[in-house]
Amino acid sequence: MNAEILCVGTELLLGDIINTNAAYIARSLAAIGINVYHQSVVGDNPERLKQSLDIALSRADLVVMTGGLGPTYDDLTKETVADKFGLPMELHQPSLERITAYFQRVNRVMTSNNEKQAWMPKGAKVFPNNYGTAPGLAVQQGEKIVLLLPGPPKEMEPMFSEEVVPYLKNFSNTVLLSHTVHIFGMGESAVEDKLKDYMLSHLNPTVAPYAKQGEVQLRVTASACDEEAANKLIQPVLADIRRILGNVVYGIDVGTLQNAFVQELKRKGKKAATAESCTAGLVSKRITEISGASQVFECGVVSYANRIKAEILGVSQQTLDTYTEISEQTAREMARGIRKLSGADIGLSVTGLAGPDGGTPEKPVGLVYICASCDGFEKVQELHLSRGRRNEREDIRYLAASHLLALGLEALRSMN
Ligand code: ATP
Ligand code: MG
Repeated sequence: MNAEILCVGTELLLGDIINTNAAYIARSLAAIGINVYHQSVVGDNPERLKQSLDIALSRADLVVMTGGLGPTYDDLTKETVADKFGLPMELHQPSLERITAYFQRVNRVMTSNNEKQAWMPKGAKVFPNNYGTAPGLAVQQGEKIVLLLPGPPKEMEPMFSEEVVPYLKNFSNTVLLSHTVHIFGMGESAVEDKLKDYMLSHLNPTVAPYAKQGEVQLRVTASACDEEAANKLIQPVLADIRRILGNVVYGIDVGTLQNAFVQELKRKGKKAATAESCTAGLVSKRITEISGASQVFECGVVSYANRIKAEILGVSQQTLDTYTEISEQTAREMARGIRKLSGADIGLSVTGLAGPDGGTPEKPVGLVYICASCDGFEKVQELHLSRGRRNEREDIRYLAASHLLALGLEALRSMN
């Protein structure tokens, strides 16, 4: 089955809002094995809406529309589809009852035009809306299906996952199962190079790489008659990928480096603390984005001034004088210092130069030292993160933080 996504709304055309519905629906359809061949956007205009629908139906088996299901005069998606298929509109009593109950629940007066939302093309399959008033619906005629979903993402997304996905699965006898392999420390082209032959010789599961903020992800997708069979196909491929790429693979389905780090801390029952100079709290911010971080994160010190590095973290004045604050020695003493200060099991530190100003031939912009220190493991890394681009301060800081989280994971994994 192939699909087209058709989003309705003048605000979308004008660029006033971003089409997050199309992205969400495309991702969700891909996950259940439905190919999306086109996406389009049309304003709240009956004639052009009809044209767009004609075009979409001429080339897709499934047309997924969002928007224009509201109660007002410019909400005309449903009527246009009914017209196209020559279906009369009829009152859908369960929807009317739900809408009435919704208004009672939120303590608002129901106006007469809200009743319009309970009128459906004859024979439509109705999807209840648990987060708003407009129900969604599916109209099927011959081989073609049109889905009409509400515009607000807070209503559309749960309706899609709870109602539409099970509905669409009725039309397919295969399941698709995906796992994501997370890679840090190897670029996309190097990953592709190492896996090229493997990817070419494997069509089920497929292996598709994506580059994302200094990381690479591989989406491994198997199709089979049921989940168990799909899983059987996927597991050996995941093992092969780990073997081929080695320890740049930091997890499967772990979401982000910070999530992998926090989950590993929890699993090991360890606590971390950070001392950050050039990232100024970005590492601690990323760690504490993860729910439950308070169980495993002690504190972060943002030590910009050398006086603070010395007085609070205990970096020796001699180290600062001899090697400067951007040095392997300073990073090491910062990591040891924060560990001691906080009593955490693992100390993470970062010091470097994010630029754009301040670089010298010996200490250029992008030179960053990171250190992870815990019982039985201490490692400093020298990083060169500038790619010579303009405005790369934020990229350097983000990458430095990512490297430190990856090093932290390595340290944790060496612990018992
Ligand atoms: P309502 O009952 O709110 O009128 P509706 O189904 O008629 O819902 P629209 O009027 O088209 O939908 O859009 C309502 C709101 O939903 C928009 O103002 C916008 O905030 C959001 N929205 C609509 N379409 C999209 C989209 N494609 N992507 C993201 N947000 C959207
Ligand atoms: Mg509307």
